[in-house]
Amino acid sequence: MGALYDLLQEDYRFREGMKACINCGTCTAICPAASFYNYEPRSIMACVQQRDDKCIAELLRGEEIWYCAECMSCKTRCPRGNAPGLVITALRSLSQRTGMFTCSEKGRQQLAIKRMIGETILSHGYCVYAEHVDTVKFPEQGPVWDWIRAHLPEVMERLGANFQKEGAGNLRKIDDNTLKELSAIFKTTGALDLFDTIEKASAEKAKEMGVEFTGHGTTDGYFTKVFTENNQTHTRE
Ligand code: SF4
Ligand code: SF4
Repeated sequence: MGALYDLLQEDYRFREGMKACINCGTCTAICPAASFYNYEPRSIMACVQQRDDKCIAELLRGEEIWYCAECMSCKTRCPRGNAPGLVITALRSLSQRTGMFTCSEKGRQQLAIKRMIGETILSHGYCVYAEHVDTVKFPEQGPVWDWIRAHLPEVMERLGANFQKEGAGNLRKIDDNTLKELSAIFKTTGALDLFDTIEKASAEKAKEMGVEFTGHGTTDGYFTKVFTENNQTHTRE
């Protein structure tokens, strides 16, 4: 047993998700992500169960742990009561905390998630905010989205939303007390520290790659690189 395994053991999601794996492969068979990505929850469970830090470090540096969709279908079918999805969330956290997430293409995208979703939760109280979704980063929205964004208040009113206004209703303005509460939750749970760790590790990686890194926003060279890069090795043939 090594230091990385010990750190995993401290995570209640790991203790909850890993009882004793018999390597039956049921989790892989039912996993929707495994039908698309080069990925097997069974082999991740087998690696972790060996308590071998070398194998665990490879997972923390690799692409596989980022393929899981956290749907927890695996938990419903495992004959031994394991939850590979929970084990994988613990592995992801450890990869973030140790900075190893920057070693993989999918892992480096943690910076994009932190800046585009994490920071939006803190500033607006929503994971995704219509004004932040543009067709440069999300071309799949189609050209009609540019028009919708330019006319958001009118469109939202016609859809019956209470867009950016006080009171009840969809897409309402989230009040300051709720935003302060969200910040307190992020601080108490260590999420803000994790945000800092993600920024610092990403800055180091950007330096190593020789790519511009400003430490904020969604337009610097490193952000654009991690957001758009795809080495085409992730999915099954
Ligand atoms: S985690 Fe459960 S379903 Fe998956 S291989 Fe192990 S025992 Fe089988
Ligand atoms: S939680 Fe992850 S590993 Fe489990 S079935 Fe869903 S995608 Fe697969």
